[in-house]
Amino acid sequence: MKFKVFLVFIVSGLFFSCKSTYLDSKKSPVLLNISAEKDENSFVNLKNYSNDFVFDMKYATADNFLKEQVYPCSECFLRVKTVKALLAANSVFLEKGFKIKLFDCYRPKAIQEKMWKIVPDANYVANPKKGSIHNRGGAVDITLVDLNGKELDMGTTFDFFGEEASHNFSNLPENVLKNRKFLKEIMLQNNFKSFDSEWWHYNLNGSNTDEISNLKWNCN
Ligand SMILES: [Zn+2]
Repeated sequence: MKFKVFLVFIVSGLFFSCKSTYLDSKKSPVLLNISAEKDENSFVNLKNYSNDFVFDMKYATADNFLKEQVYPCSECFLRVKTVKALLAANSVFLEKGFKIKLFDCYRPKAIQEKMWKIVPDANYVANPKKGSIHNRGGAVDITLVDLNGKELDMGTTFDFFGEEASHNFSNLPENVLKNRKFLKEIMLQNNFKSFDSEWWHYNLNGSNTDEISNLKWNCN
């Protein structure tokens, strides 16, 4: 009898742990309203809240510096508060004839560990022990496209490792500096912080104190 109770406990424990470590990547048939989400810290799929973003999730392909696909499929999960700020920023860009294109969003801790195994060098990948804001659901890697989907010239590609990718590198054509400034100004006005060495990386203010998360997602 005691053994049976123990077994039920183990089985239900397994059930709950499976349930709670996976995010639902099923798409809503209609767009949802982010202001209806009451838990600011929960993870949601950006694709359910807007059709006005372009998704080019590099780590869901082998077209990245790791030369390996590390995400099972192309999804952009973020905390509710990050999505709110991103929607606000994108609406400003849209008014001006541009939209945000995303390269990376939330990155589960297990994927960070996988990346660290491929490239165990803190110059290129955040050490999973410390984690990055991507693991906390508060970071996005982005650029801007015009309404025809053409990327603005930011001087380097996403994940270019060199000083040319830095906000402090000014030896770039005038239009590149202007484009970076445009992206940065609107992001800063919408509760994001820039990251000096990567023009594409933005952190939601205060997200550095959020917990590192290991919620993975299934592909539909
Ligand atoms: Zn980043």
